[in-house]
Amino acid sequence: MKVTLMHGAGGEVMGELLQVLTKFSHNNAGGIGLEALDDGAVIPFHGTNLVFTTDSHVVRPIFFPGGDIGRIAVCGTVNDLAVMGGRPIALSCGMIIEEGFDVGDLARIVASMDEALGEAGANLVTGDTKVMEKGALDGIVINTAGIGVAETVVRDNGLMPGDAIIVSGTLGDHGIAIMAHREGFDLGEQIRSDVAPIWGMVENALKAGRIHAMKDPTRGGFASAINDMAKKSGVCVRVKEEQLPIKKSVRSASGMLGIDPLEVANEGKVIMGVPPGDVDVILTALRCHKYGREAAVVGTVTQGAHVIMETSIGGERFIEPPMGDPVPRVC
Ligand code: MG
Repeated sequence: MKVTLMHGAGGEVMGELLQVLTKFSHNNAGGIGLEALDDGAVIPFHGTNLVFTTDSHVVRPIFFPGGDIGRIAVCGTVNDLAVMGGRPIALSCGMIIEEGFDVGDLARIVASMDEALGEAGANLVTGDTKVMEKGALDGIVINTAGIGVAETVVRDNGLMPGDAIIVSGTLGDHGIAIMAHREGFDLGEQIRSDVAPIWGMVENALKAGRIHAMKDPTRGGFASAINDMAKKSGVCVRVKEEQLPIKKSVRSASGMLGIDPLEVANEGKVIMGVPPGDVDVILTALRCHKYGREAAVVGTVTQGAHVIMETSIGGERFIEPPMGDPVPRVC
């Protein structure tokens, strides 16, 4: 078997590669390790929960409507910490740069990383830079790792029958913004990536009420993340199509591109499973934050399996886990 682009696309196909990549016998420092395939690891240390995660970024183009590779590199890692319940503390940054890369662009990327770090309340504390010869890679690759501290660890496998499923805002913005931009759609100008650090919003919600499960719907989008949560929790999720927040512009660009907005990456959203008694306080907490103004209840958890969508015309269909994100190199 040879590695293909689909092996990096965050869907079912990537699972095959992960079976090869997760065969380490030393993968658990006593908390939540690699085998959990959660958004990050948790290492219990002197009475605190250290959350640890890493993410590499290969987005094309490097600058896109609403963001750039630097903002994604910080937010990707900060958000994986956040959805484990971790307050982001410190990040590392490894950059691999292609010979001939513009130093002005590099400065723009660094300024953007700095801004996102400030927003997230985290610091970049260590880094590394390598340069490869022209043609050896496409411009720049950025890896970040991050540590956070969680008072309460939240997993992606804790959905319970009766829970409401909340999403923090409109779905599909990032993937469709990237794709519309690549295709040179005029419409693309109206569609901006949602890339943002979500810790502040998640912190508001954690303070307001109980959250049984959380995940950020990145590669493979809402469809991939909600299937992952349902499967790991051993429950069924029923979603109401008419309650899914999708921008009109995103919906029409999706139609033109033939891409399901539920299957493309979001970079500033969170999916939560919340017990019925806490839904109102958590919705209010999310909506008080600038990144959560369009937070909405989109479904409920029942006993059973699969993710089922009740369509706006009164039918039902499965939301299947996608084979991979239909947009390659999206983050
Ligand atoms: Mg994640």
